[in-house]
Amino acid sequence: MARRKKIYEGKAKILYEGPEPGTLVQYFKDDATAFNAEKKAVIEGKGVLNNRLSEFFMTGLGQIGVPTHFIKRLNMREQLIRQVEIIPLEVIVRNFAAGSMAKRLGLEEGTPLPRPIVEFSYKDDKLGDPLVPEEYIIAFGWASQQDLDDIVSLALRVNDFMSGVMHGVGIRLIDFKIEIGRIWENDYPRLVVADEISPDSCRLWDIETGRKLDKDVFRRDLGSLADAYTEVARRLGVLPSNVTHRPKPTLIN
Ligand code: 5GP
Repeated sequence: MARRKKIYEGKAKILYEGPEPGTLVQYFKDDATAFNAEKKAVIEGKGVLNNRLSEFFMTGLGQIGVPTHFIKRLNMREQLIRQVEIIPLEVIVRNFAAGSMAKRLGLEEGTPLPRPIVEFSYKDDKLGDPLVPEEYIIAFGWASQQDLDDIVSLALRVNDFMSGVMHGVGIRLIDFKIEIGRIWENDYPRLVVADEISPDSCRLWDIETGRKLDKDVFRRDLGSLADAYTEVARRLGVLPSNVTHRPKPTLIN
């Protein structure tokens, strides 16, 4: 079999050339990084779980008419996606104060926000993905005003869907990050949800206990990340039967 051409390797995923023009294969790695890759680890089974979870969320979004890059899952770690031009923004939606917002404004984590807030960071690891106002986005040509209006509306639809799905399994969606891609169809641009939606890019708290079930478990050393993601997948009924994450045997002297 011919070797596949690698198009891009990021911190948690690899993109390979797809079988048809305009498609790519997205491979989910087990690598976990935080604080702009200052903290790194390999979490066995994370890629398998995120592949399944992203498939689950993207498929559900497609079913309610939110366009995404997702075509189909190919195997345990790979999915077929549409090739898009990624808009260089991290689109963050917040329902409760946490993380950088809580720090910036001196708010207690978990404080409910008066309404969902959409904010943008410029995607640049070297700069630490700085928060940017719409004015910058338009002035620097990263997206037009029309794009931004469409992005906010997409982000809020994703938020409604994700909040509802999570609430149904006893999880509060605190905030999340998505990326948006542009696809050209007969010279007309269309915006779609791209990249991934998984516990790597969301804050998910158990409604009853407040237990964190997302990447903060890794960022803040709160226990096993694989256990947290497995719990999310289990509640959503998408746990792959042969997921690789199992407690390792311990040698007893
Ligand atoms: P914060 O700005 O509070 O650090 O993050 C807000 C939300 O966006 C959190 O759910 C966080 O996981 C997600 N997020 C922000 N930046 C990144 C990033 O560079 N990568 C990923 N995977 N998620 C991010």
